[in-house]
Amino acid sequence: MKLSTKITVGLVSGIIFGIILNIFLPQAVAQLNEYVLSPIGKVFLNLIQFVVVPIVFTSLIVGFSSIDNSEKVGRLTGKLLFLYISTSILALVIGYITASVLKPGNMVDGLVEVAAGEAKEGQGILEWLISIVPTNPFEAFATGNLLQIIFTAIIVVFGIRMAGSHAKPFLLFVESVHAIVEKITMLVLKLSPIGVFALISSVIATQGFDIVQKLFVYILGLILALTLMAIAYFIILSFLHVSPKHFWKSFQPTFGIAFGTASSNAALPVAIENSKKEFKMREEIAGFAIPLGTALKRDGACILQTFNALFVAQLFNIQLSGAQILAIIVSALVVSFSTAGVPGAGIIMMSTVLAAANLPLAGIALVAGVDRLTDGFRTLLNVFGNTANAVILDKWEGNSSITDMKVHSSEPVYA
Ligand code: ASP
Repeated sequence: MKLSTKITVGLVSGIIFGIILNIFLPQAVAQLNEYVLSPIGKVFLNLIQFVVVPIVFTSLIVGFSSIDNSEKVGRLTGKLLFLYISTSILALVIGYITASVLKPGNMVDGLVEVAAGEAKEGQGILEWLISIVPTNPFEAFATGNLLQIIFTAIIVVFGIRMAGSHAKPFLLFVESVHAIVEKITMLVLKLSPIGVFALISSVIATQGFDIVQKLFVYILGLILALTLMAIAYFIILSFLHVSPKHFWKSFQPTFGIAFGTASSNAALPVAIENSKKEFKMREEIAGFAIPLGTALKRDGACILQTFNALFVAQLFNIQLSGAQILAIIVSALVVSFSTAGVPGAGIIMMSTVLAAANLPLAGIALVAGVDRLTDGFRTLLNVFGNTANAVILDKWEGNSSITDMKVHSSEPVYA
């Protein structure tokens, strides 16, 4: 059986097992979750996060070093940021329109009293920008701060170029670490069907279905908006003559892990693997665009923030002014870039958007009740958007043979 099939089997059987536990064995759920499902899920998550930092750093160094000039690094970054912003705006609009049409906030009678609670404050935007520059690169590695690691890798690549032949042993070392970590990733991935089974069944088994019933339109509306954005990507890829089927099949293990773990960071190692091995993306693009996108690109967060802001406005019967709508769109865009790739990060950032648009923070506690349920779908779209943008960049940079599936390889340049 192929890995992607095994992951799908793990997910589907995990969902079924979770439902059975939730409905028929509610007395056993707490114990089973505490001693079996949750520990297995956590060990898998830890193992997969174990490879994230070394794979990101070494992929960036190997990827950047294979690009022959600094001008090209600037061009690739510029194009990628342009793509990120354009597609994020599309996601914001889709989230906004879906919530306006479905009006999920008008369908939750009797829930406003529940909607009280403390919200954790998200980080300020300027603070976030400043924090990208680490004071200590080793701290960035130790805490797994992706943006700081990317920043460090870029600085190191400039250092490598300037050091010339002195940097050769370091580059060989990094290449060797990269090859080792790739093999470890493959080993960890063998455990992914069991890992996603445990994680997803734990979520479903412990989910209160009462709140799910009450927020049914909200949940379905959010999933619909996320699906529409995925369809938009499929259309864009088709226009670029990239087969959506080839794209989906290549990244299926990545998407399965994103959905099961609700963490873009956890899906990163396999996303790099799939883009190079299955999709045949060029190493220089995969090694650079996928880590950058994992740190920055969150279409799911764009949709979540606009959808939730409208939901809260509808819930509290607030007529939004033009200024408030603009505040929602702009703050949701910025906040999406600073949302971490870990479970539940989007909900924490919600307070920033609501505060920017002068909306009551009380709505957060309400949607937080079903957050883990929608998080898997959001994360799936986050990773979907990230990989799709990397593919678009690869095409834009002239990789015409993605569709005829030839293998690409580019040798790193040693000074
Ligand atoms: N869990 C999401 C991710 O890892 C972030 C979010 O909460 O929206 O991409």
